Amino acid sequence: MTPSFDFLADDQASIDTLLHDVCEQAIDLLAGMPSRPVAGGISPAAPDDTGNGARAALADFTARYSAGLAASAGPRYFGFVTGGVTPAALIGDWLASVIDQNATGSADSNAGALELETLARFRDMLGLPDAFNGAFVSGATMANFVGLATGRQWLGAQAGVDVAEAGVAALGPVRVLSAGAHSSTVKSLAMLGLGRQSLQRVAALPNREAIDVAALTEALAGAPGPCIVVANAGTVNTCDFDDLNAIAALKDRFDFWLHVDAAFAGIAAASKRYRPRLAGWEAADSITVDCHKWLNVPYDSAVALTRHLPLQAEVFRNQAAYLRGEIEPGNFLQLTPENSRRLRALPAWFALRAYGRAGMAAIVERNCDQARWLGERIAGESRLRLLAPVTLNGFCFAPVEGDAAALLARINASGEVFMTPTVLFGQNAIRGAISNWSTTPADMDRVWAAIEGALLG
Ligand SMILES: *Cc1c(COP(=O)(O)O)cnc(C)c1O
Repeated sequence: MTPSFDFLADDQASIDTLLHDVCEQAIDLLAGMPSRPVAGGISPAAPDDTGNGARAALADFTARYSAGLAASAGPRYFGFVTGGVTPAALIGDWLASVIDQNATGSADSNAGALELETLARFRDMLGLPDAFNGAFVSGATMANFVGLATGRQWLGAQAGVDVAEAGVAALGPVRVLSAGAHSSTVKSLAMLGLGRQSLQRVAALPNREAIDVAALTEALAGAPGPCIVVANAGTVNTCDFDDLNAIAALKDRFDFWLHVDAAFAGIAAASKRYRPRLAGWEAADSITVDCHKWLNVPYDSAVALTRHLPLQAEVFRNQAAYLRGEIEPGNFLQLTPENSRRLRALPAWFALRAYGRAGMAAIVERNCDQARWLGERIAGESRLRLLAPVTLNGFCFAPVEGDAAALLARINASGEVFMTPTVLFGQNAIRGAISNWSTTPADMDRVWAAIEGALLG
C-alpha cells in the first residue's frame, strides 16, 4: 500500500472532524471579513511540505495564504463590480461541491431540472419572458461569448452559410456595432475568429457612455449587410444604459442581432425602481447577466440567455453515441462551451429561493443609496470632482489637483477600502461600485474617512 493511500483513508475516516474544523475556520473567516485589510495581500512564505493529508494541507494554507487573500467578499471592496456571498448562496455552493454533480444535462439525475427551475426563477425575478433559453456559464465573458457565437451563426444563416460547419472564413467580414462594449466583448470577438477589429465603435451621447441612437442608425444604414449590435446595460465607469427600447425599435428597419450585455446591472431589474432602465431588453436576441456580481453568489457564475435555441445548438452541439443528443432546454452539453459542468445553478437556486425578488431588490436599492450618499460627499468636497452623476451603484471621481493614481494608491493603502483606476472622457479617474449585500452605513462612514485621510496626503 502506498503512503498516499493511507493519507486518503485517514482523511476519509476523519471527514467528520475535518469538516467541522473547516466550518469553524470558515465562520472565523466570515466574522473577520469586515476587519481584515480589504486588499494588498502579503506575499506567501516558502512552502512547508512537512506532513501530508488534508489536515496538514489546511494548516499550510492557513499559515501561508489565508491572511493574504483579499477581503473582496467583504463590505468595503469597491473594485471592479464585485459582489459577496449571501449565506444561502454559500450553503448552495458548499453542497454543490459535496454532491459534485456533473451538470451536463444528462438523464442520470434531476440536476437539469434544478438548473431549469433556477433559470425560471431568475427570469421571473428580472421580468424576462420564458422565450429566453438560459444556461449557467462561468462568467459574463463566457455569456458574451455564447451570445456573440450564436449571433455569428445567425449572421451566417442570413448569408446561407453554416458558420459552425464551414468556419468563419466562409462568412467574410463581420461588423459589430457598439458604443461602450466591455473589454470582454472585444476578447470574445478575438476568441470567435471574428477579430477584435470587427468592432466598430459608435459615438456615445455627449458626456455619456450610452450610445447615440442616431449615430447607430447611421452606422446600420451604412452597413453592407446584417450586423451584430452589442448594447450595454450598465457600463463599468458610470453605470450608463443604452436606450434599449430605441435600439430594439431599429429592428423594424434593419437586420441585426441584438446582444445586451447586462453583466452587473441586469440584476437591478429585480427592483421596481430600476427595472425601467432595462426596458426593451426583452427584445434582445441574447443577454448576459452575471450572478457572481450583484446577485452575490460565489464565483464563478453567470447566465447566458438566448431566444434562438436551434442556432445556439448549431454552434455548441456535441454529438457522440454515448451522449444525450436532444436539442432542448436543459441539455446543457449541447448549448454551452463546456462539456463537464459544475452544478453552478445550486448556489443561485439557494439565493433565489431564500431571498426572492424582494430580497434582491433590497440589496440593489441599498447599494444604490450608498453610492448616492458617497457621491454627495464627493461632490461636496472642494478637493474632489465627481465626474458623472451617481445613477446606480457606481461612482467615478478625481482630485481637483494632482494625480488620480497617487490618490487612489493612498486610499487603497489604508486597507479600509479598495477601488480601481479608470479613464473617463479622457481623464484619469478613480472608480468604484458597491455590490455587496453586507455593506452598512458604518462601512460607508469608514470609506469616507479613508478618502478624507488620503486627501491629507
Ligand atoms: C464584469 C463585466 C463583464 C465580464 O464579466 P466576468 O464575469 O468578469 O467574465 C462583462 N461585461 C460587463 C458590463 C461587466 O461589468
